[in-house]
Amino acid sequence: MPELPEVEHVKRGLEPKVTGEVITGVTFSDKVHIGKEAGKETIIKGIDLESFRERVIGSRFKSIDRRSKYLIFTLENEFGEQFIISHLGMSGAYFVVDTIDDIGIPNYINHWHVELELQSGKKLIYSDIRRFGEMRLAKHLEDAAQIMAIAPEPFEEGSEDYFIRQLKQKKWQQKKIKEAVMNHSVISGCGNIYACEGLHTAAINPHRLVKDMTEDEQRRLFKALVASLEEGIRYGGSSISSYRNVEGESGQMQTRFKIYGRQTCGTCGREVEKAVIAGRNTHYCTHCQK
Ligand SMILES: [Zn+2]
Repeated sequence: MPELPEVEHVKRGLEPKVTGEVITGVTFSDKVHIGKEAGKETIIKGIDLESFRERVIGSRFKSIDRRSKYLIFTLENEFGEQFIISHLGMSGAYFVVDTIDDIGIPNYINHWHVELELQSGKKLIYSDIRRFGEMRLAKHLEDAAQIMAIAPEPFEEGSEDYFIRQLKQKKWQQKKIKEAVMNHSVISGCGNIYACEGLHTAAINPHRLVKDMTEDEQRRLFKALVASLEEGIRYGGSSISSYRNVEGESGQMQTRFKIYGRQTCGTCGREVEKAVIAGRNTHYCTHCQK
């Protein structure tokens, strides 16, 4: 699942190609049509396809931002602003191309689901092999509950104190620390991979209960999680979970992992332990992480 660093790279790739463009047409795949007709909310959430099309055609992309793992496209037209809030799910990817074949990767060509025609003649295409991703239209960001529930961006001042305050809440005290840090109301944008890496860097066992940790340990962990996310951005994200940036490339971060997806610990060389915490595969080292 793309996490903050991967989504940041999608945003950076889209920004120069899409900002200022006007949407002149919208086409959905058969899978989206069939899903919506069956009441399944495939990709396009909370609005019928015809209304989505009517509301976005003629709008200009004013800006593209990232909030946690969400992309936020700000659109403007004569009626004001509105937003497309998009999540990449497990395997979503955006491409800006002249024709769909220019995507160049068969899986993403075959699994395109939304095509926005742009005034320049280019197309903004959303592809998603597993169809867990989504696009939602919102008139106001304040109405988008999923955005409002997210902790501040981890790189912002004050986010460490916010993290500490969240962990002090009763609902997290009895939980394992790994489960808490994968929740975006505690720290934003950190999913399974960067949680595993951050816990390893901070030398903290993922099974530790929040209530048994000292505040110093929690602060050390926050700094390690942020460092992992920053390193992820620096190395273009990871190529796990079929992530692709706007150019169709995967990142290099997976070569930097110390613990995630490894057989042996990248710090001490001992065998990596595996466990499932909150439904996600967790990799850690019992020698390095206490
Ligand atoms: Zn180790």
